[in-house]
Amino acid sequence: DLVIKSSTPTDSTTHHHHKIVLVTGAAGFVGTHVSLALKRRGDGVVGLDNFNKYYQTSLKRDRQKLLENAGIFIVEGDINDMSLLVKLFETVKFTHVMHLAAQAGVRYAMKNPSSYINSNIAGFTNVLEVCKSLNPQPAIVWASSSSVYGLNTKRPFSEKDRTDQPASLYAATKKAGEEIAHSYNHIYGLSITGLRFFTVYGPWGRPDMAYFFFTNKILKGKKITVYEGVKQKSVARDFTYIDDIVKGCLAALDTAGKSTGSEGKKKGLEAPLRIFNLGNTSPVTVGELVRILERLLNKKANKEVKEMPENGDVMITHADISLAERELGYKPTTDLETGLKKFVEWYLAYYDVEGKKFDTGS
Ligand code: NAD
Repeated sequence: DLVIKSSTPTDSTTHHHHKIVLVTGAAGFVGTHVSLALKRRGDGVVGLDNFNKYYQTSLKRDRQKLLENAGIFIVEGDINDMSLLVKLFETVKFTHVMHLAAQAGVRYAMKNPSSYINSNIAGFTNVLEVCKSLNPQPAIVWASSSSVYGLNTKRPFSEKDRTDQPASLYAATKKAGEEIAHSYNHIYGLSITGLRFFTVYGPWGRPDMAYFFFTNKILKGKKITVYEGVKQKSVARDFTYIDDIVKGCLAALDTAGKSTGSEGKKKGLEAPLRIFNLGNTSPVTVGELVRILERLLNKKANKEVKEMPENGDVMITHADISLAERELGYKPTTDLETGLKKFVEWYLAYYDVEGKKFDTGS
């Protein structure tokens, strides 16, 4: 049976919002940081995560310990478990949902397409379905992705630009999420905000992402494959530091308008549907990423330069963040070198040179 502790907001005089937030994907990279930040400022937080095995579950378990030590209650379960969701929303009167649970990663879709459909389309729809039936309905903020811009070559990417050319199944499911969100906003008057994150990195990050496994391989002296300089083309990413993303997420929650419900809609009230880019506005090539890591690790990488295979990754991402700046007061402040320094410090404290986890004694 579901017993939720620590779900009431703690008292804080500096903060007056007192939200009660369900964070899905709470044991994930972004979910951990967002949950801690919400808790720190005095909001009530309950986390939900299915601890799937897409990458090391030990890392997710250690993030869970971090969250539980901060007084955040974590429910182990799946967004595809409708009865669990219903029970959860019956037990706690959530004012907001920060929906971050998803099957992330672009290449894994070739091996496991159904996990993308299940979590990113069906699971997301379940969350909306439960929220639409509540009275009052919570406001929803969820993670879309920069990948929705797909093969679009007009840069920087602005929210108005076309998103009808996904380059991967991951991108297609994130785009589908945006369409589904539109329909739930339109019919049920749910307040929904989509955040298109651009390559988020930092401490407690994801081992499947290049900056993370490059660090591991450089330390071990293993070969890394860099998609750079072939046919004058380099892969570049608009790397965005986790603390900047967290600020954007909190601002999105704080500015989310009220859900109106279908009844409110009939009276002519408009529930907001918003989409924002959360990026850093300065793409860095993978070659430069490696050079920064070499400097920070004080070790040369064993590089193999190759042409990027057609596996769903786009060449360059670059966010236009003027809309988020205007509406959310979003302003990223961490450049890649500064952010990677913090990542490397965390990495070296958490893993040994072989990439094995230090015994944390817990
Ligand atoms: P993550 O994989 O670390 O976190 C996602 C978490 O959700 C994981 O802990 C996983 O166990 C959980 N989860 C997955 N499917 C679930 C399900 N069906 N039910 C319950 N829990 C489930 O990824 P992240 O980097 O923290 O990403 C968070 C969100 O941001 C995701 O929606 C992702 O697609 C999106 N995003 C991330 C980035 C990035 O660079 N990190 C970029 C764009 C978008």
